[in-house]
Amino acid sequence: MSASQWRPGKRVAIVGGGPGSISAALAFIQRGFDVRIFERQPECTAIGGAVLLATPVLAILRSYGLDEKNFGSYTVTYFKNNSGKERVKLPFNPECERKMGIKGWHYGVLRSSIFKKMLELVPENVIHAGHESTSYTEHEEAVELFFKNGHREMADILIGADGIRSNVSRQAFGDPRLFHTGIRLWLAWCDHIPDIPPNYGFISHSWQYQASFFPMLHEGKPGFEWWVVEPSWEGKPVPEDPKAHLTEILKDWAQPLPRFLDATDFKSQVYRWEIYNRPSLKKWSSGRVVCLGDAVHPVSPYAAYGMGMAIEDGYFLARALDGVDLRDKRAVNAGFEIYEKERVDFVNHNVEFARRLGWMFHSVPRPLAWIRDAIFDYTPLLSNFLKTGYLKKSEEETLDLAELHVA
Ligand SMILES: Cc1cc2nc3c(=O)[nH]c(=O)nc-3n(C[C@H](O)[C@H](O)[C@H](O)COP(=O)(O)OP(=O)(O)OC[C@H]3O[C@@H](n4cnc5c(N)ncnc54)[C@H](O)[C@@H]3O)c2cc1C
Repeated sequence: MSASQWRPGKRVAIVGGGPGSISAALAFIQRGFDVRIFERQPECTAIGGAVLLATPVLAILRSYGLDEKNFGSYTVTYFKNNSGKERVKLPFNPECERKMGIKGWHYGVLRSSIFKKMLELVPENVIHAGHESTSYTEHEEAVELFFKNGHREMADILIGADGIRSNVSRQAFGDPRLFHTGIRLWLAWCDHIPDIPPNYGFISHSWQYQASFFPMLHEGKPGFEWWVVEPSWEGKPVPEDPKAHLTEILKDWAQPLPRFLDATDFKSQVYRWEIYNRPSLKKWSSGRVVCLGDAVHPVSPYAAYGMGMAIEDGYFLARALDGVDLRDKRAVNAGFEIYEKERVDFVNHNVEFARRLGWMFHSVPRPLAWIRDAIFDYTPLLSNFLKTGYLKKSEEETLDLAELHVA
């Protein structure tokens, strides 16, 4: 079947060409739908540096045909304080490992290289770059899309995968009321450093900063991703010399974090990212229009990874519409409802949990921060919080994805 076909009842138009969009496209094409992606840039490119992808995301990518060798290295994750004292060793659920056939839970990859591998799986003529969507009009039997370059397109359903400042989401659900979450992320990566132990990474906190690292894979070669989170606010000045700024933050930090400073090229391997969120939405669809990824749930980097959740959304959406004649609005809406039932509460929980963790680690004033740190250093509270707030639901999701299990 040619992916450029455009058969009524099968027509899926996607606005935006990021990871959520490409995942949705691959999942819909696998189910026999005709997909067209409209990306405003001259080509689909991945922003940002390294990323951690969790087991369910990797299993979804594997189901699209992505080679497991591209997953990177599995990692045993620790939470520590900035002096190196261990607070939590994140457990692996052996049942998840066995059923998915994927060791561990988090894999570090360079965002651009995994995105490139995803793009390679997209058939020709699916991606229409240089198409900036401006608006849409919904008709009873179809939805009509309008583009800045004058192009128009009639589709059965429209998927808004156009990121945090999504036009589609704004038209469907109104002003996103974006707000700064109070944190800034410095995301960096570097080549391999031989004497750092393999399969080992940690997330560590001082009273107001986070600094973390993970092993990763970049175009088949091992390396490290590392990052620093600092308190921030709308309009906070950006340091002129990021290396000096991060060196100051990391000066008393436990090894190996300070070592990454000199191993990193600050011109090409460091990204700064101000974290914005929106109040959680309870519905992600309206009529023949549905959204996914940052268009409905921009997320802070605490425990909830934007790219991974966008990839999951695309897969769940296509699964919920499997076999549906997209001209049939009732059947489409029933499919959207399944997608929302499976995703909205789960994702909103992760986004809100991530925001709470970010607030707890970066916005608490000093005397309270000391008490918090003593509790995290000497009691199992942080461990329980991570297990119940983050891992439990994600593991349940993993065990429910029976069609992706290998055992
Ligand atoms: C600078 C930066 C670095 C980041 N780094 C990381 C990271 O390392 N790890 C991580 O997990 N997350 C990272 N994120 C967050 C991550 O990018 C998102 O959570 C994730 O990409 C969401 O995927 P998405 O497909 O929903 O949206 P996006 O990746 O934002 O993709 C949206 C796409 O829609 C296109 N688009 C927008 N408007 C229109 C329009 N009107 N018409 C047509 N096309 C349009 C955009 O050009 C873009 O290609 C980063 C974000 C930023 C801004």
